[in-house]
Amino acid sequence: MKIATVLRNDDYTREVEERLREKLSANQERTCRFVKDVSEHPDLVLSIGGDGTLLEAVHEYGFEPHYVGIHTGHLGFYADWRPEELDEFIHALNHITPLIAEYPTVQCRVTAAGVTTSKWALNELVIRNASLSTLVARVLINGEEFETFRGDGLIVSSPSGSTAYNKAVDGAIVHPSIEAIQLSEIASINNQTYRTIDSSLVLPKHHEVELIVKNPKIMLGLDREQAVWKDVQSITCRVGTDKVKFARYRKLPFWGRVRKAFITD
Ligand code: NAP
Repeated sequence: MKIATVLRNDDYTREVEERLREKLSANQERTCRFVKDVSEHPDLVLSIGGDGTLLEAVHEYGFEPHYVGIHTGHLGFYADWRPEELDEFIHALNHITPLIAEYPTVQCRVTAAGVTTSKWALNELVIRNASLSTLVARVLINGEEFETFRGDGLIVSSPSGSTAYNKAVDGAIVHPSIEAIQLSEIASINNQTYRTIDSSLVLPKHHEVELIVKNPKIMLGLDREQAVWKDVQSITCRVGTDKVKFARYRKLPFWGRVRKAFITD
């Protein structure tokens, strides 16, 4: 089995990875070979750190490998194992056929200065005005005019991203088995002149939302990546055809994670 690792940049995480490498190299029951990058096509990518580390891993390795998260901080949404469970994890690797949980992504096409670029996110796409003034964007759903948004920004999140930025703006939490995207507002202006729906919208697979941007420069965020884009005419988002595949060697139900993360551990 070819294994790659992606680490959070701290000493404790590096120490956990070192221990894991030693244990896997000494593993008698299954041959594990560590590889360095995507060109070597790893079967399994181990993300050691937090949910942010997993986002980095999926953008580095894409949709081909299976992912497993080991969390070296608080319990994450994308990580199943704690550092003190490395032996248990290796035992599972040797003896259990994992269930593959496929998480939907947000797929988008960004048209800027006449050029269309395809992008994707596991958590979300975020747009904001590049300066502190209001973002103005026409919102079309399945090609039909829906509203004109004025405010700080818009988030289009995946189900697994619904517990991240989307939740902080009161979006709904969506189970990752539901193939949907969610459009949420960041501080919309609602008064007698301007009006938005002021609720999050959950769109099913095959529906699409188009944002026609009026500002000359916007800040576009895709998971961890953020960049200023000029002359953006439109951004179209839908449920991605590619999914991120997580290898689940044991059960850790989603709603249990939600409870542990936001109510009580
Ligand atoms: P960061 O600002 O260093 O951390 C953002 C926090 O979001 C971390 O605690 C991270 O968990 C957590 N997180 C990431 N994905 C999550 C998910 N699917 N469900 C629940 N929590 C999640 O940024 P980062 O580590 O590079 O992560 C990028 C993400 O930050 C973005 O995708 C966006 O969702 C989120 N973000 C949130 C806000 C907000 O809530 N107001 C604002 C900007 C960005 P770990 O500590 O385990 O890594």
